[in-house]
Amino acid sequence: MIELQNFTKYYGKTLAAESISFKIEDNHIACILGRNGAGKTTILKAVCGIHYPSSGAVIVNGIDVEKDPVQIKQITGYAPENPVFSMNYTVKEYLNTVVNLRCLQRQKKAKKERVCELLEQFSLLDVKAKKISELSKGFKQRTILAGALAGNPKVLILDEPTSGLDPVQVQEKREFLKQLSQTRTILISTHSMSEAEVLCSDVFVINSGHLVASGTADSLKTDYCSSSLEEAFLKIINEEKAE
Ligand code: ATP
Repeated sequence: MIELQNFTKYYGKTLAAESISFKIEDNHIACILGRNGAGKTTILKAVCGIHYPSSGAVIVNGIDVEKDPVQIKQITGYAPENPVFSMNYTVKEYLNTVVNLRCLQRQKKAKKERVCELLEQFSLLDVKAKKISELSKGFKQRTILAGALAGNPKVLILDEPTSGLDPVQVQEKREFLKQLSQTRTILISTHSMSEAEVLCSDVFVINSGHLVASGTADSLKTDYCSSSLEEAFLKIINEEKAE
């Protein structure tokens, strides 16, 4: 289970998220919707312990992220939208690095085997010597997802997982995420309303760092008298603007 308790985050003087509380049950796929700069990535990073709350708490599978950051790294996997730091790595170097970080308990040989497994499972063998910066968007995304799953985490956090993919790859990735959710809790951010509708059991709408609506896609449509999630989303955001 992922739980945010009055999560507040400042970057210096910039307030990126204020007093956000929500829960995501085990094996659910949840998504955060919001405009650019709303605070989505700020929340995702807090769930996997990349940064800590300024106040409030983030609890993942019963563990307080701030109190046991090492354990949090073992049970979560994070796929950023753009892993800027690793663009100069080859695919294999990237997976070696992630496996070393995420599979701390494993022996050297087992780590090597895990990298080979990931290269095979994600059909990356042909591009393993290529730099990530030189890959097509689809292969980049595949490499990032392989990295996020390196430690076989129970909780998977994905920042805009289908952004820039072609429709066939979008469909394949959504199916894959559905399969993964049989044994994992997944939290994504997305700008795709169809993704939220077909994939996610919980939808959280964030606006200017505040949680302004939550529910299922269907309940949000009902609550905001809308025929689509997009219409409901726009009403929610415009209501907030008017206030
Ligand atoms: P997008 O959809 O564009 O990716 P987002 O909803 O993920 O946006 P965040 O990246 O969480 O938004 O940013 C929320 C706010 O925090 C924005 O005002 C952003 O400028 C600010 N912010 C994010 N990261 C930092 C940082 N490292 N230092 C300072 N401010 C930051």
